[in-house]
Amino acid sequence: LTLTQNVLTEDSPAIHVPTYNPTDLTAGIAHIGVGNFHRAHQAYYTNKFLNLSNQSDWGIRGIGITASGKEMATKFASQDSLYTLTEYQPDGASTVSVVGAIIDYVAASDDLEKAIDYLADPAIRIVSLTITEGGYNTDDQGNFLLDTPSIAHDLAHPDQPITAFGYVTEALARRRERGSGPFTILSCDNLQHNGDVAKNAFLSFAQARDPELAHWIAERVTFPNSMVDRITPSVDELDRERLNAESGIDDSIPVYCEEFTDWVIENNFCAGRPDWELAGVTFVEDVAPYEALKLRFLNASHSMLAYPAFLAGYRTVHEAMGDTLFSSYISVFINHVVSPLVTPPDSVDLADYKAKLLGRLSNAAVSDQLSRLCFDGASKLPAFLLPTLSELAQQNKPTHCLAFLMAAYGHYLQSEADDQGNSYSVNEPFLQKSDWLKINDHDVLAFLDCTPFAAAKLRDIPHFAATYKLYRKQIAIYGIAFSLRQTMCTFWE
Ligand code: NAD
Repeated sequence: LTLTQNVLTEDSPAIHVPTYNPTDLTAGIAHIGVGNFHRAHQAYYTNKFLNLSNQSDWGIRGIGITASGKEMATKFASQDSLYTLTEYQPDGASTVSVVGAIIDYVAASDDLEKAIDYLADPAIRIVSLTITEGGYNTDDQGNFLLDTPSIAHDLAHPDQPITAFGYVTEALARRRERGSGPFTILSCDNLQHNGDVAKNAFLSFAQARDPELAHWIAERVTFPNSMVDRITPSVDELDRERLNAESGIDDSIPVYCEEFTDWVIENNFCAGRPDWELAGVTFVEDVAPYEALKLRFLNASHSMLAYPAFLAGYRTVHEAMGDTLFSSYISVFINHVVSPLVTPPDSVDLADYKAKLLGRLSNAAVSDQLSRLCFDGASKLPAFLLPTLSELAQQNKPTHCLAFLMAAYGHYLQSEADDQGNSYSVNEPFLQKSDWLKINDHDVLAFLDCTPFAAAKLRDIPHFAATYKLYRKQIAIYGIAFSLRQTMCTFWE
């Protein structure tokens, strides 16, 4: 089946098509970075909202400003801006939907003025972003970098932008001039306090461009924080063929994801918003407790699993979770280590959240690469695991599980082969030369003083350093599985 408007009149119970007519929609949202995640998450919620409401003014205009934009624009245009989304349940069952919420797509490199006009159009009330974590152009202290070549270019040529900051700020300048008011800037990237990060980036850029404009933006534009959660793998050619064979639809840009999805947004929109709650979005005053839940359970479990499972020879999350040693370790971590420390927001049923989390980690259809989860532990561990460790220490509770993880991570960084003899390379962009000296020191305790952990003073936590040292020795001599079994035994003592 060719994917065009004609598919929308197909009578097939296997495929969910929009109940609204996408050609009736007008755009209220412009999105920069229409990758897989946006199409599986925000566009999915918007599609659901459009199905359930009678409102037609919240269609999405896609804007691509990177090199992939041109190809994406051609593909969108060739299939009437429609695409298929396949959602997989943990048992492998799937649902296919045709999504019509994105009404058109422009590649800025094809038509720069059109991209700016799209953003400056007074009908646009929200500009949302998935431009990746690194796209916010900040240093490790969170300061916006004004001297990178692309930012320097956009400051020197405000009407010829090449970055998201340049495009959005130029559009805001035109709206201010024309009196057509501000829009909300909604970051949907996987960053803690993503709205605050976006606010700092856009205001720093605007301040360097024109302080009066920066003042107007600070007064009028809002930057809600949001917690986004849905595992959405990238799609290669084999995935595309498989998804199209399953759906029976010839889609050049299909997307797939897990069935689970979550979106919690700070209710702070300066120019209106869709009633996304109709589609299951939660609006709150403060997103922080929801972010904490995700960091302390999902992201922390990913890190707890990644290094030991990789060292054992596994390469994907679901393979490792298929080994009862690893699934019971993660279950113990979730239920006995993290759970007693974290108070969930009132609206969250923690037992249900944890059960779903274990199901998500075992979902073979959307399994993450462990190497991806091992990437940049220096940034991830302090955010995902150190809060748990310091609370355990404050409450005089055992810290074995975390000592084991630090031992696994230290061994992973120092060793060049897993326990099956497979060699690997480490990807840690933020570790310093001085850190590598500590990592490779013959005294394994030196590793605890590396920059990302220095502030946590791990050596001062009673028993922690000694337990860590013991596990390092066990892992080196007897392997990761032996040491993990020893760690697990401490829970039954
Ligand atoms: P993707 O590679 O499919 O898409 C990334 C998109 O961002 C592309 O359209 C690309 O052109 C654009 N982009 C990249 N760098 C940019 C920049 N500097 N400026 C402007 N646009 C830029 O990746 P994805 O899976 O869609 O993930 C995108 C982001 O979504 C992630 O970085 C993460 O913050 C967030 N996220 C992803 C997932 C997931 O499971 N994939 C889950 C939660 C959150």
